[in-house]
Amino acid sequence: MSGSRGGSSGNRGRRSSVCSFCGKSHRDAGPMVEGAGDVFICSSCIELCHNLIREERRRAGKSQVNLKSIPKPREVCEFLDQYVIGQELAKRAISVSVHTHYKRLAYSDAMEENDVEIDKSNILLIGPTGCGKTLLARTLARTLNVPFAIGDATTLTEAGYVGEDVENILLRLLQNADYDLEAAQRGIIYIDEIDKIGKTWNNVSITRDVSGEGVQQALLKMLEGTVSNIPPQGGRKHPEQQYIQMDTSNILFICGGTFVGLDKIIRKRLGRKKIGFGLEDRDTDNVTDLGQVLEQVTPDDLIEFGIIPEFVGRLPVICPLKPLSVQAMVRILTEPKNAIVRQYAKLFELEKAKLEFSPEALEEIARRALLRDTGARALRSVTEEVMLEYMYELPEMKPGTTYSVTPEVIGGEEDLLAPGRLRKESA
Ligand code: ADP
Repeated sequence: MSGSRGGSSGNRGRRSSVCSFCGKSHRDAGPMVEGAGDVFICSSCIELCHNLIREERRRAGKSQVNLKSIPKPREVCEFLDQYVIGQELAKRAISVSVHTHYKRLAYSDAMEENDVEIDKSNILLIGPTGCGKTLLARTLARTLNVPFAIGDATTLTEAGYVGEDVENILLRLLQNADYDLEAAQRGIIYIDEIDKIGKTWNNVSITRDVSGEGVQQALLKMLEGTVSNIPPQGGRKHPEQQYIQMDTSNILFICGGTFVGLDKIIRKRLGRKKIGFGLEDRDTDNVTDLGQVLEQVTPDDLIEFGIIPEFVGRLPVICPLKPLSVQAMVRILTEPKNAIVRQYAKLFELEKAKLEFSPEALEEIARRALLRDTGARALRSVTEEVMLEYMYELPEMKPGTTYSVTPEVIGGEEDLLAPGRLRKESA
């Protein structure tokens, strides 16, 4: 339909026009789109064509997993590097297990009867809030171009209790795959707050099953690979419902959690209060200290934490993430492709102004964000506060002005709204 132009034929008084595809008249089919050479198409034919093409694309997509198109671990890691700062160990481990996972998929398609079966390598990310766990999983899905869904373990309950069924996570994946079951069955699911289903957390919700074990069992089945019945509309299951059957054996699961208190279990096992050399009780040292402790985690520590052994067994790749240091926070502010500082610079550029941050100002922002104990999540809100006055004045400023953000300009938190604290340099 090259050269088509939108518009209803009726509007132009062509009452005799008929859809060139289904033959219905304008009167029956409603408004039509006109193409070159007196060709018309009605809205239901447009929709039909759209569905046909989508179906065709899906079918083409199914054969996409072949050994040649699977990115190498180094390629995955380099892509992750563009968005995720630090966490080198986790990035490498994830890259390898994702590569293996997709190789396994390609291999299982061509597998003969007595061939060796390759197990799935689901991943467990352990690290404090805001250190990049979700970001890693999200970026990964973007690299691989596969459907991705995030679920929260705290909202899950055993069937029969108030809350969400485990299958709802699968439904979300299916929805994100545009109901393409085949694609969804090869997607990635990130389950956040997995630590909260441990037995020690059994008081999280009084409406949940008492031990939290029911949820662990249900999740376990999903991780192991099962055919799940998914209610297409979501919500709780009920007997008269129609279900979509989804096979989870080829879905890659990434679980993440903060595991507060796990470091104590590891420390106890190691029989020492502190690990590392010459660590003192200064703030930054405590940060590296926690990272060093978590690095030594073993499956037994997780079992002691309250995760059932079978579940731990299904998460063979354990990646501890490090708490972010001031330096890492400064890098997060400036380096990723969509770094906050870059975003602000762009906004200023749109107003034909220039924005500069001094290294000290960046450190000050990072330090302030760290105090909020929510990792890199606090960076945006701290920067927003710092930039508020600038953003307020920006549209009224002379074009070509350069703005410098320095620690003096930022001042104390109470000074943020003090008038006249901005430093401008005309170009
Ligand atoms: P969590 O570890 O709690 O899942 P997130 O991954 O959701 O934390 O991080 C929250 C936000 O903080 C991210 O959207 C991202 O902007 C930023 N962030 C956290 N860690 C990093 C990191 N290592 N590199 C770059 N940005 C990060």
